[in-house]
Amino acid sequence: MFRKTTTQRLTSIAFAVVAATSTVVASNLFAPTADAAPARGTALAGKTVFLDPGHQASAAGHDLRAQVPDGRGGKKDCQTSGATGVNGAQEHTVNWQIGQLVKAGLESQGARVVLSRPDDTGWGGCVDERAAAASRSGAAVAVSLHADSTARGADESKKGFHMIVPSLPVPDATVDRVQSGEGRKASTTMRDAFVKAGFPSANYAGVRDGIQTRSDIAAVNLTKVPAVFIEMGNLANPGEAKALAGRDGQVKYAMAITDGILNYVNGNAATGAGPAPSAPTDDASGLSSIIPFVEQLLATEDPEAVARLLMTQGQDVSAQVLKAMLTIVYGLFDGKLPIG
Ligand SMILES: [Zn+2]
Repeated sequence: MFRKTTTQRLTSIAFAVVAATSTVVASNLFAPTADAAPARGTALAGKTVFLDPGHQASAAGHDLRAQVPDGRGGKKDCQTSGATGVNGAQEHTVNWQIGQLVKAGLESQGARVVLSRPDDTGWGGCVDERAAAASRSGAAVAVSLHADSTARGADESKKGFHMIVPSLPVPDATVDRVQSGEGRKASTTMRDAFVKAGFPSANYAGVRDGIQTRSDIAAVNLTKVPAVFIEMGNLANPGEAKALAGRDGQVKYAMAITDGILNYVNGNAATGAGPAPSAPTDDASGLSSIIPFVEQLLATEDPEAVARLLMTQGQDVSAQVLKAMLTIVYGLFDGKLPIG
């Protein structure tokens, strides 16, 4: 339904940039108006997606070491505070900001998005509570956002993303059935979306083709809807830390994640747990094909080009998702729209 060639899609987006009205004036550049509201699509109408931006900003009087079920018959810590990047970036904030972009992209397609925590200032719940919330949400897929760290200082040698899947079987029969089937399919589809977006599979921690199997992740051991647990990159790697914490990089990660969710939920999922495709195969949402264009657009820092894009009615899913994300990203990074 959204299949177009890359050329058609890029033409469509480029047209959106240049076809805006000639009445754009300076005041429009700094205040979103009703006219600037992103057009909405229906690719995810009637679907719920659970997003869990990992960790939290503050324990706020809660005990991170309180023991909670680990989904394997044992106990583990309620929470951890998350990684700190070599550039000082806090993982909980990286997860939150990229989560906000993904949320906007999904909502631009009519999805109902349920978040595991309400903000990036306070507490967000123990891992078992978040898994229970994901299960209760009835989501088509639950996506946990994390960023790794392999060293306290800079570690240039280790880089890349990975999806963590549970070692099988999982003791709970429902979790085992869901995560061994749909959960694995969703994780593989997300892996493919990261590859298509140009992110490298992690070259450490025994990751194979962007997938790591572990038994100790409560989020996947306890969740009864298909779960995807993403380690987006390595905050100890200076290049990845910059991308994870920066405006342009966050849009790219968010587009890959939204692409993976769209592909999985709309039935364009990977067919198995085999190796990653060596070249783009199926780009149903069109998001991965416009990433180079988006990088170019953001790099120009041309407020008028961005404003025109935001004010133009989108023609397809990729244009709608992009506009929704850009509206958020300029709010997150600059407090105004589009950029100064
Ligand atoms: Zn984490």
